[in-house]
Amino acid sequence: MAILTIRTLPDPILRQKAKRVRTIDRSVKKLIADMLETLHADDGRVGLAANQVGVSLRVTVIGIPDEEDIILVNPEIVRRKGERLVNEGCLSIPGYIGQLYRAETVTAKGLGPDGKEVRIKAEGLLAQALEHETDHLNGILYIDRMESMDTLRKIEPEDTQTGI
Ligand SMILES: [Zn+2]
Repeated sequence: MAILTIRTLPDPILRQKAKRVRTIDRSVKKLIADMLETLHADDGRVGLAANQVGVSLRVTVIGIPDEEDIILVNPEIVRRKGERLVNEGCLSIPGYIGQLYRAETVTAKGLGPDGKEVRIKAEGLLAQALEHETDHLNGILYIDRMESMDTLRKIEPEDTQTGI
């Protein structure tokens, strides 16, 4: 396994729509293992999309503290409910945090690492991370969803779990 370098703005790969995975072969399994290692290499990292580590494939890993890691291949948000204002940061936009609206609950589907279909109903940070990572795979960043860039600010020490 390897800790991968996280791409940051203005790396163009962050703006490309990532490709669907056709087969979860050895190279995809290695990518997943490396992404998990990269995710856990630093506290405060909540999720990673493959294009953030330079691979334009629809793969994401999410690690909510004290919960089991989630691995989703070809993830899609199939349902969104409600709306809430959140603070959000991104490992690809280091040092900043902004305010935007995210759904209260989401239902996501995709494939697990074994190729079986997975459906996840989520709220809170997990719902936010699922939306954030699915956006990444479509070339969308949280700053695109902010109503006003006036709320973009530097991260303060009291901010937690901002690295999605
Ligand atoms: Zn991000």
